[in-house]
Amino acid sequence: MSDRIVGILGGGQLGRMLGAAAALLNIKTIILDVGETGPAKQVLAPTEPHLSHIDGSFTDPARIQELAARADVLTVEIEHVDADVLIHARCETHPSPATIKLIQDKLAQKQHLQSRGCPVSDFIPVDSTVESVHAAAKSLRLPLMLKSRTLAYDGRGNFVLRELSEAQEALTALGDRPLYAEKWVPFTHEIAVMVVRSTTGEVKSYPVVETVHKENVCHLVFAPLRTRDATLARRAQHVAEDAIKTFDGAGVFGVEMFLMADGALYINEIAPRPHNSGHYTIEACETSQYENHLRAILSLPLGSTALKVASAAMLNIIGLSSSMKEINALTDVALTVPGASVHLYGKSECRKGRKMGHITVVAESDAQLRSRLRVLLAALPTSPI
Ligand code: ATP
Ligand code: MG
Ligand code: MG
Repeated sequence: MSDRIVGILGGGQLGRMLGAAAALLNIKTIILDVGETGPAKQVLAPTEPHLSHIDGSFTDPARIQELAARADVLTVEIEHVDADVLIHARCETHPSPATIKLIQDKLAQKQHLQSRGCPVSDFIPVDSTVESVHAAAKSLRLPLMLKSRTLAYDGRGNFVLRELSEAQEALTALGDRPLYAEKWVPFTHEIAVMVVRSTTGEVKSYPVVETVHKENVCHLVFAPLRTRDATLARRAQHVAEDAIKTFDGAGVFGVEMFLMADGALYINEIAPRPHNSGHYTIEACETSQYENHLRAILSLPLGSTALKVASAAMLNIIGLSSSMKEINALTDVALTVPGASVHLYGKSECRKGRKMGHITVVAESDAQLRSRLRVLLAALPTSPI
C-alpha cells in the first residue's frame, strides 16, 4: 500500500469518512482543524507523535505550512481553505490549489465553466447595492437567485429574490460577502455525479443520482437515477467528466446538475472533494468515494465505481433544534430497518439545520427500498418529501 502521509485540511464529517477509508488501507493521515475532538479526529487516533493532528484553522497560513511540512500529500475535505498558502506550500496537493481557488469563488467557477463550453445557466456579477440587484433582476428576470461568491454551504449564501422590493433584505441577509446573481432555473430534478480522477489520468464516474433538496439543503439522495430517458445517465456522466477535465488535479469531484423538462442539463456547482451526494457509495458501491479519493491522490489503482445493490437511498440527519431527541428517535428506528446503516458524525452540538449524520438504505429493488425508507420518514416530525 502507500506509506505516504496524507494531510487533510478540514476535520468534519467528510474528513471522518475519509479517515475511516484510510484506516482500512492503513494509510496514515494528519487532520488540520480547530479543536482536539472534531468528527475526523475522533476516529483517527495518531499512533506516533509525528502523526499527531494539528489544532488550528485550515485558513491559518502557519498551521497549513506545518501540515505541509509533516505530510507527503495534502488534500481538502472543504474548499474554503487558504488556497494561496497551498500554492506556495511546496507539498503535493490534490486537487491542485489553483483548482481549489477557482472553485471556491462560485462566480469565477461559473465563468470558467462557461468559457470552456460547459452547460451553465445565465448569471451576472452584482455589486452589493440595491441598484445593482435591480439591474440584475431586469436582465435575468424574477425570481432571481442571489448568491454569495464565497464561503457558501447548505444554501447559506443564497437568497431567492421574488420582488424588487426585497433587494435590501437580500443584501442584509447575505452580509458583506461578494455576490453574483443567477437566473432562476425551473428544473424538474436535481441530479449529481461523482467523478474520480487519479494522478495517472484515469477517470471514473459513479452512477448518476437524484438529489432532493428542501429550502436549499440536500435531504435525500436516490441511486441510481430512475428515468425513462435512456440517454440521460450517460449524458450526465459526460457533462460531469467534461467539466472535471477543465480542472487540474486528482481526487473526487462532486458535480451538481439541474435536469430540465426537455432533458437539458445545466451544471449548478462543482465540489473539489468528496460530496454529500456520494455518501451512499460507502454501502452501495464497490469502492466508496472516500477510498477512491485516497487511491486517486496516492496514485493507486482506482476501484470500481459500480453499484453493488439494486437500489439505494441516503437520508441526511439534519438537526431540528439544539436537542438530539428527534435524532435519537430516528436512529433508534433505523437500527430496526434491514439494509439501513446509521452514520453519526459526533459533532459537539446539535443545531437547527446542521448536518448531524446520515442513514444509507440499500435494497434489492426500488419497491423494497421505498418500503424501508417509508419507515424512516415516518419517524421524522415532518417528511422532507
Ligand atoms: P451546497 O454546497 O451545500 O450544495 P450551496 O450553499 O453551495 O450548497 P447551491 O448548491 O448553489 O448552494 O444551491 C443550493 C440549492 O439551491 C440547489 O441545490 C438548488 O436546490 C437551489 N438553487 C441553486 N441555484 C439555483 C438556481 N439558479 N435556480 C433555482 N434553484 C437554485
Ligand atoms: Mg456549494
Ligand atoms: Mg450545492
